[in-house]
Amino acid sequence: MKITIIFPARKVEVGKATMPVMPLAPTLLAALTPQEHEVSLVDMVYGDQVDYASDCDVVAITVRTPLAMTAYEIADNFSAQGKTVILGGPHIFAFPHESKQHAAAVAIGEAEDLWPIILKHVQAGSLRDYYVCGPYKTDSLNGSIYPQRQRPSLANLPMMRRDLLPRDRYRMDSIFTTRGCPNFCRFCPVTPIFGPQIRHRPIDEVVAEINTLRENYFNVDDSVFGHPQIVDRPEENQYYLDLYKELAALRPKRLWSGAGGLSAINYTDGRKIVELAAESGLCAIAAGLESISGAGQKQSGAWRKLHFTSSDTFEIDKMKENIRIFQDLGIEIMGFFVIGWDEDTPDTYRRTLDFCNEMKIIPIILTLTPMPGSPIYDEYLEQGRIFTELSWDHYGGNSVVFKHPTMDPEKMHKLNFQVLRKGFGMGRILSRTLHTVRHRPSFSIAMNSFFTQLALMKGFLFLYEQSS
Ligand code: SF4
Repeated sequence: MKITIIFPARKVEVGKATMPVMPLAPTLLAALTPQEHEVSLVDMVYGDQVDYASDCDVVAITVRTPLAMTAYEIADNFSAQGKTVILGGPHIFAFPHESKQHAAAVAIGEAEDLWPIILKHVQAGSLRDYYVCGPYKTDSLNGSIYPQRQRPSLANLPMMRRDLLPRDRYRMDSIFTTRGCPNFCRFCPVTPIFGPQIRHRPIDEVVAEINTLRENYFNVDDSVFGHPQIVDRPEENQYYLDLYKELAALRPKRLWSGAGGLSAINYTDGRKIVELAAESGLCAIAAGLESISGAGQKQSGAWRKLHFTSSDTFEIDKMKENIRIFQDLGIEIMGFFVIGWDEDTPDTYRRTLDFCNEMKIIPIILTLTPMPGSPIYDEYLEQGRIFTELSWDHYGGNSVVFKHPTMDPEKMHKLNFQVLRKGFGMGRILSRTLHTVRHRPSFSIAMNSFFTQLALMKGFLFLYEQSS
C-alpha cells in the first residue's frame, strides 16, 4: 500500500520555521511501517503541500490539540476522496469520539505495536474503530475496539526515517531514550498517556542511532536525568550513568539538549549523571520550574520533581542554588514557568521575569493552558472554568482558555507577551550567551545558545502577532 504520513501545521504557521527540532512522531511512524509498503511524509510546518489528488491508500495524521481542527479538515478532505484515514497523537487520548468522526480508525496511545496491526487490518478489510494501547478505560468507547493491554517494549525499534525529510530543514535532530514519568504534574498529560513506569531503550541501540545524527540534537525525553528524587532504584540511575559514559566516548562528540529536573543534582547518583551528561555534550536543559511561589508549586503538583518533600517545603533559594550548580557546569537553563495558578496576580509575570533575569536563565514564561488529558483540564471543565466556546486552535499558547479567579484573560495574555518581549530583547539574549560561555568557553556552545534563543524569540513574537 501507499501510505502518506502528515504532520500538520496551520496555514498561518507554514514556512515560519520557528521550530528548531525535527518532529519525532512522523519519522518514527514511518520507521514502524513494514517495508512492503511505500511511505512518504508531508511536513506542513515547512510548507510541504498536502496533495489531495495523491494515489495513496492510507493517510495517517498526528493530532496535537492546537492543530486538531487543521488535522480534522485534512482528514475530512481525504475521507471524501475515499482514502482510509487513521488518526493518532496526544489529542486522541482525551477525545477519541471527537476524533473518530473524522477518520476510519483512531489509535489511542503508543504506536509501536498498534501501527503494523492497523495496516494489516486495512489490507484485510477488517479495520476496527478504535485501537487502544495500554491500560486505557475502553467502556465509554462506542464502536469496535482492538485492545493492546501491554505498553510496547522500546527494544529493537527501527531507526527513525529522518531520510524522508530534508536534513537541513531543522536545526536539531531529535531522539528519545525513555518513556513514562512518575511525577503526575497536574497540568501535564504525559503520565496518563505514557504511564508512571519508566521504560528505556537499550543503550547500544540509542548510541548507534546517535552516531547517525548531526552535531546538534535534542533528546525529547521528559527527563534526561531520570528521576533520582523519586525513584529509589539504583538500576534506574545506572541506565543514565552507562548511557552518558558511552556518549562521552563518541567521536565526534555532539552537542545536545533535553528536558530534565534540576533537583537530580541533589542526589549522589543524580550529580554523577548530570556531570557525565555535560561531558557527553549536554549544553542546555529545559527545566520545568513552573512557579516561583509555593502556592503555584502546590497547585501545579510540580514540587515533586523539584526535590521538595511536600508542597510546603518549597524554597526559592534551593531552586537558585540548583540553577547555579548547572550553570557552573556550563549547562544553560531554559526555565519553563507557568503563570495562572489561582493565587497568581499580574505582578507574578514581572516577578518571574525578574527571577529569570537575576539567574540568567532563558525565560520561557507561559500562561497556563490546561491541556486535554491532564487532571487540571478535567477539574477546570467540571468547575465550568474552561472557555468551551474556544476551538482547539486556541490551545497553542496564543490565547487564555480558562477563567482565572482574579485576572482578566486579555490582561493575562498582554502581560505574558510583555514579559516575553522584554525577556528576549537582544541585550538579554547576548548577556545570557556570554554568561554561558564564561563557564564553558566554546564557539559552538555560544552559537547554540544564541541561535536557540533567536528561534525562541521568533516563535514567541509570531504567537503574539497571530493573536493580536
Ligand atoms: S511536566 Fe514533566 S515531570 Fe511533570 S508530569 Fe509532565 S513530563 Fe512529568
